[in-house]
Amino acid sequence: MSERLGPPLGAPLFDRLALIGVGLIGSSIARAARRKNLARVIAIADASAEARARAEALKLGDEVFAGAAEAAAGADFVVLCVPVGADEAVARAIAPQLKPGAIVSDVGSVKGAVLAAVAPHLPKGVALVPAHPVAGTEQSGPDAGFATLFVNRWCILTPPDGVDATAVAKVRAFWEALGANVETMDAAHHDLVLAITSHVPHLIAYNIVGTASDLEETTRSEVIKFSAGGFRDSTRIAASDPTMWRDVFLNNKDAVLEALGRFTEDLTALQRMIRRGDGDGLFALFSRTRAIRRAIVELGQETAAPDFGRPHGEDNGNGGS
Ligand code: NAP
Repeated sequence: MSERLGPPLGAPLFDRLALIGVGLIGSSIARAARRKNLARVIAIADASAEARARAEALKLGDEVFAGAAEAAAGADFVVLCVPVGADEAVARAIAPQLKPGAIVSDVGSVKGAVLAAVAPHLPKGVALVPAHPVAGTEQSGPDAGFATLFVNRWCILTPPDGVDATAVAKVRAFWEALGANVETMDAAHHDLVLAITSHVPHLIAYNIVGTASDLEETTRSEVIKFSAGGFRDSTRIAASDPTMWRDVFLNNKDAVLEALGRFTEDLTALQRMIRRGDGDGLFALFSRTRAIRRAIVELGQETAAPDFGRPHGEDNGNGGS
């Protein structure tokens, strides 16, 4: 893709940026923040020794720590980039080190539960501005990140009532500098929207790949051999990080169950159409869904290339990724 990050800012937005967790998202923020000169110092913490070693080798930050508290000490912007289930422990650990006026944010795929887990631990004078960059891949770890991950992707901010407006504006400016389009909404609305657009589709992918694998007596080699089209794309989604996605479902329980209820009803209706030979009904639905895909492409959120731009024919084997 030809997405560009643009030139660096003249003066850094923050003095000390602390990134807690340097996986796919944390390392992408580190790379982009460095390139855009968004912080004078980038401090990184990660519980994994392997991730810390890679962060040092890749020069993702100026300082790398095992403990979140050391990275957060004296920082004016702290971003939690750990799985949602780890946010509360991190908030507890960094709280005593946070300086007055600091801004704490996160990148979690769930917002209501994160707010409830983090807010009670933060001292007075520290602003909490949760964020969710709606961007990612099925890969994890510091090597998986890249600086343009957020370019032309949405970043949703869910500031709680009464939070300092200047802090919200600074977090917005940060994400805009990373190339994201920023939208603000309340946490409950975010969780409902993302349940149907992201969380349930992941669950469906995990389920279809799981079902195929359970049928391995008859399909074992066939699943691999004929894994074209829809199934192949499901396996890509179903390769997403197990820890991250376990935490998403455990922390967005109500909205996911609500969306799943609707999904199940609609699936039953489809089942009935097939049983009754209702071709018009199937055709009407498939035409409506095709139009939705076109709208997503027109909004610049997906490539218009067929088969997601995978190389075919003469292009095969010549790179192109
Ligand atoms: P990741 O690549 O797995 O990286 C997470 C890193 O955090 C790992 O190195 C992990 O170490 C470390 N970690 C775990 N618990 C920690 C703790 N208590 N203190 C310090 N470090 C800790 O994950 P990711 O894909 O970047 O996801 C991070 C967050 O971004 C999640 O909340 C997720 O919901 C959100 N998000 C992800 C995507 C996506 O597509 N991946 C998109 C948008 C938002 P270990 O490996 O040792 O656990």
